Amino acid sequence: MPDVVILATGGTIAGAAATGTQSGYTSGQVTIDAMVNSVPGLTKLANIKGEQISNVGSQDMSFEIMLLLAKRINELAAGKTVSGVVITHGTDTMEETAYFLNLVSKTDMPVVLVGSMRPSTAVSADGPLNLYNAVAVAADPNAKGRGVVLVMNDWIHSAQTLTKVSTTAVQTFMSPIRGLIGTTSYGINDFYRYPDQKFCLTSEFSAEGVTKLPRVDIIYADVDMPADLIDASVERGAKGIVIAGVGNGNMPKAALEACARASKKGVIVVRSTRVATGTVGRNVECNDDELGLIASYNLNPQKSRVLLSVALLKPRTLEELQKIFIEY
Ligand code: ASP
Repeated sequence: MPDVVILATGGTIAGAAATGTQSGYTSGQVTIDAMVNSVPGLTKLANIKGEQISNVGSQDMSFEIMLLLAKRINELAAGKTVSGVVITHGTDTMEETAYFLNLVSKTDMPVVLVGSMRPSTAVSADGPLNLYNAVAVAADPNAKGRGVVLVMNDWIHSAQTLTKVSTTAVQTFMSPIRGLIGTTSYGINDFYRYPDQKFCLTSEFSAEGVTKLPRVDIIYADVDMPADLIDASVERGAKGIVIAGVGNGNMPKAALEACARASKKGVIVVRSTRVATGTVGRNVECNDDELGLIASYNLNPQKSRVLLSVALLKPRTLEELQKIFIEY
């Protein structure tokens, strides 16, 4: 049997409530050993070893914990005895962690994030089958070379495409535009495609020796947004700013002028969008070349922030950064 390591970080999958039908609960209450023991048949899929990295709701996920995960994945990959890694994680910020690990994991072994929308004590808890399917994907040689993926509710998403779309529904993750990597049903996997952008072994980024990431702020655009939030972010020492723009990464004129001021001071400004699907293109309704701005292309604000934080670990020109946003 393949060896699979489960790195547990917390989330609703490890959450507990006093009764099976209440909406209130606490994330990160159940240990990884208890979770493994509660899933019938799990130990028939792989030799499983659990490690508790943290036990937090993913609203409290941090770059510090993400760096610990990256370090452990890279150690396990270098050891060459493990077939795959599963990470149990809260769903709120799963896309940030998945995308970060897709940038800095130096491996082609499957790295599978999994969570649940209902706590372990709920009627019809979704965690146990999600964990079963996640281990089945991590143990599957066909999952190799597909980068960091998320397995929930029978669907296999790429870290590049997945996004959370519902606050409560079990089918909360979607991969708009590019679509799924595959599907899984009671441990039987069906793979459709490989990710088409750079990731893991083709990624130029590394978390080796990194203890802190540069400050990058996200600022939300809307009607009459206060442009001085952008100036405040620069004053507070941000090295990068991501605008969750309206439409195709747009914002009111005053905000655009504040972005140009920030760019002149050497702060990198990325135009992303608050819209759920579609790309943000360069020089569409504003002149990025003149204003010194970057277009996020496929990345939503939260993934843009992760990419910019990692990219700013070393000095890069605007041209280099724009290329990175197109390629990742
Ligand atoms: N707030 C929880 C978390 O992200 C929600 C979940 O896991 O579904 O940890």
